Amino acid sequence: MARKTVLVTGGAGYIGSHTCVELLNAGFPVVVLDNFRNSHPEAIERVRKLAAGSLKLVTGDVCDSACLERLFAEESIAAVIHFAGLKAVGESVAKPELYYRVNVGGTLTLIEAMLKAQCSRFVFSSSATVYGDPQEVPVPENARFAPESPYGASKAMVERVLTDVAKANPSWRVALLRYFNPVGAHVSGEIGEDPLGPPDNLFPYVAQVAVGKREYLTIHGNDYPTRDGTGERDYIHVVDLARGHVAALDHLDELHAATAINLGRGIGGTVMEVLRAFEKACGHPIKHVVGPRRPGDVARYFADPAQAEKLLGWRAEFDIERACADTWRWQSRYPDGFRTR
Ligand code: NAD
Ligand code: UDP
Repeated sequence: MARKTVLVTGGAGYIGSHTCVELLNAGFPVVVLDNFRNSHPEAIERVRKLAAGSLKLVTGDVCDSACLERLFAEESIAAVIHFAGLKAVGESVAKPELYYRVNVGGTLTLIEAMLKAQCSRFVFSSSATVYGDPQEVPVPENARFAPESPYGASKAMVERVLTDVAKANPSWRVALLRYFNPVGAHVSGEIGEDPLGPPDNLFPYVAQVAVGKREYLTIHGNDYPTRDGTGERDYIHVVDLARGHVAALDHLDELHAATAINLGRGIGGTVMEVLRAFEKACGHPIKHVVGPRRPGDVARYFADPAQAEKLLGWRAEFDIERACADTWRWQSRYPDGFRTR
């Protein structure tokens, strides 16, 4: 069956670019909408080199209703994957109004344009951060909702909006994909995570120490109740995550209204395990010191991924070692990301 066109908002970003590659490989024509606030147009050029097929780029803002209406009038869009948004937890605490404007306001603008164009298939980038400090691990989808930051709250709000819109419009099908910790890069080393400032997250930070851009990693606490005392997370390879989106599109019609689905491996890795795996990948020791716990961090956090397998037939394939090897290929080839000369 011929694949229909998918609009990918934020398609030039980290997860979006990898998803575009997998969509094109699966035969979907793709239209990307991105304002390049946190990405580089070169990412789209690389996607074009990595995968054949139709990829159109529209430079614009998801909060711009005229731009969206034009886009839906000009393109025949069958489904939307909505990545575009802001994702820095700390910045969201400092500028909550910006986060609600872009993450909630942008999604509302998109929903209104979709209703007008009668496009009723929506895949949303939610986050495990909606669970806050979970009461149990592995975390199932029906765990308590307790987002702690404005960023997390913006994801929870959008989930609520989409749930209500799907209820009011019975033809709508929505997948609320709650990502755990996306890491890794495309196996080619041509696309990967490209943080603009100093990274907050473990993987890009370790990668920058390994390549010599930063002096050492600070381990945020080694007195947690985990097997080696360092924090434990569910690191999911970005290509697995990207394939989860293709699976979501393929199974959207079978879902009821708006359905929340965890995308994780269901296996935790500690900070020390990531560090050792990265040392193996880059072939040299990575300097590190142990510091105090980071405020707001939880000890252990990993997904119950059963629902994704049941509803989407999807399961993560790649482990932390593979994610480190792929991240290192990208980081060592392009130390300054897409700005590397
Ligand atoms: P990213 O910043 O690399 O990608 C987001 C893309 O959206 C960027 O290309 C950016 O330029 C674009 N964008 C931002 N605001 C826009 C706007 N107003 N209009 C048009 N484009 C805009 O982030 P990512 O890591 O690829 O994350 C993608 C989505 O997944 C985000 O919604 C994020 O909240 C969610 N998510 C990410 C993680 C993670 O750890 N990376 C975890 C859970 C959920
Ligand atoms: N972490 C760390 N040093 C860093 C960045 C992160 O020790 O420079 C730890 C952090 O405390 C957590 C894990 O690595 O236990 C993952 O952190 P990240 O910010 O990547 O993900 P999140 O905490 O948002 O799940």
